[in-house]
Amino acid sequence: MIDGCGRTIDHLRLSLTDHCNLACRYCVPNNASPCGQMIDEDFAFELVRWLSTHHGIHHLRLTGGEPLLYPPLLRLIKRLATIASLREITLTTNGQALEQQAAPLADGGLSRLNVSLDSLDAERFARVTRGGTIERTLRGIEAAIEAGLTPVKINVVAQKSFNDDEIADIAQWGLLRGCVVRFLEVMPIGPLAHVAHEHLVPASEILDALSERFTLTAISGSIGQPATDYAVTGKCIRGVVGVIAPTTRPFCNRCRRIRITSSGRIVACVHDGTSLGLRKFWDGKKLHIQGANEVLLRAILAKPEEGPRQQTLSMVTLGG
Ligand code: SAM
Repeated sequence: MIDGCGRTIDHLRLSLTDHCNLACRYCVPNNASPCGQMIDEDFAFELVRWLSTHHGIHHLRLTGGEPLLYPPLLRLIKRLATIASLREITLTTNGQALEQQAAPLADGGLSRLNVSLDSLDAERFARVTRGGTIERTLRGIEAAIEAGLTPVKINVVAQKSFNDDEIADIAQWGLLRGCVVRFLEVMPIGPLAHVAHEHLVPASEILDALSERFTLTAISGSIGQPATDYAVTGKCIRGVVGVIAPTTRPFCNRCRRIRITSSGRIVACVHDGTSLGLRKFWDGKKLHIQGANEVLLRAILAKPEEGPRQQTLSMVTLGG
């Protein structure tokens, strides 16, 4: 699938639910999760089968909200794993319910996963997530490694005066466990959108903090893809860290991604407030391909060359 700017689109982020058991302060508005929308399991499966079989989507990330709260998750993954054109099924989670689910998900066909972890300090973790228990996420990460969902990628949203003093510590913690640790610039999306610049730790500062402790070498193929990854070499430690910098090093020209929300809307660009509905083409048993194809084409052709930074929804609704 080629968009109007010549970019190949082969990655789909599918939000299974906008419900979350945490309420990260930069992600969930007003201390409350949105309405708890769950996508119908058959609709989700047929959407992915259609997009993968007919439109070249080869990489699927299941997200939310919190995808581990989606009751038929394991059954859906087993069904998705039968789609021959899908090269990988990955998932992004806060890890709170991961310890029990990691092994069955790996057996069911999940390729690997990303876990969000913004601090190693229990009190800070509880504060940023509004109530999360760090031990549960840490045990979830260990269980995912044990289950072979590797490399586990750790997502860290770098935030000024919150965790910018922990950047090297979190990297070291992850590297010692064989994880890839990726630091994200906070995006102007969600409850802190209007003050995102105050919370922003630019990529340059993230790299300075990492370089004080580690020797970093950029991995050439990865530059701006959207993560720029760095090989870490040292006497006692090695591995990969990455930086995702949508604000100071935007990568729109290399974006290969579309999203579908748990209410069945296509979001072609995370920074653009427009979306198009697919739910009307699902009759409870069958996806009506002709209408869905027309809407997909409209969405893909309207994908902006550069994200206009006009998103009004939060990541918890869009599917992060
Ligand atoms: N509940 C899962 C989790 O916590 O990973 C998946 C959904 S969450 C919306 C996905 C990712 O979006 C998380 O890594 C989160 O940190 C990130 N995210 C949400 N809002 C963000 C923002 N304003 N800027 C940068 N990253 C954001």
